[in-house]
Amino acid sequence: MRFLNTILDIVFPARCVLCGKTGVDLCRECLKDARGAERESAKWIFPLYDYRDKSIKKSLWLLKYKGRKRLASVFAENIYEKILEELSELSVMENFIDAILIPIPLSRKRYRERGFNQAELICQEIIEINKKTNLRDSVDTNTHFSDSVNMQLENNILIKPKDTLHQAHIKDRSTRLKNMVGTFAIKNEAKSTDLIKGKNVILIDDITTTGATLSEARKVLRQAGARKVIAFTVAH
Ligand SMILES: [Zn+2]
Repeated sequence: MRFLNTILDIVFPARCVLCGKTGVDLCRECLKDARGAERESAKWIFPLYDYRDKSIKKSLWLLKYKGRKRLASVFAENIYEKILEELSELSVMENFIDAILIPIPLSRKRYRERGFNQAELICQEIIEINKKTNLRDSVDTNTHFSDSVNMQLENNILIKPKDTLHQAHIKDRSTRLKNMVGTFAIKNEAKSTDLIKGKNVILIDDITTTGATLSEARKVLRQAGARKVIAFTVAH
């Protein structure tokens, strides 16, 4: 896979999807101009950008529907920074130090159609960044060890057995919440419970609209024994 990516990088050199600058898929300057998300009502959900921002909307669309997978690493970098920022407080207040990363899953049908889960791609990139960061911190004696966070990806715990109607198509809140019930399940319950019992979980998704999807996933994970569940998304 890495090898194939290298070949692809040579044949199709990275270009900012917005301004065309070469070298990156989405450049820092373009991202810097993107509008930040207004805070979600739920305190445990941390979205990065405002979905109404044209550049965010376009790049998420390219990632999801046009398979521009390298955009996942750009978003991962930004989410990772935000995670560290939030954890610097949570680690003290809530003893939230190590975390299990769980992407919001797609249904099997949707996964087959798309060939990948964008939230999972972002998680994989976050794990890579985390590994590199921890490695760098461990050789750099000036940084405090206590700053490093250990993240682990579990993409086989939370599953989505049924396809739901898109939340955006449902107008009223109670119908939206009802639509979500039974959306998620824990795969291989005994084994999964062992993995997440008493652990802190970070949910990752590309977009949160009403927070209903994340709330439902959180509920299922808490029932399976997860300690604290928070969520980060690219946009809101
Ligand atoms: Zn750009």
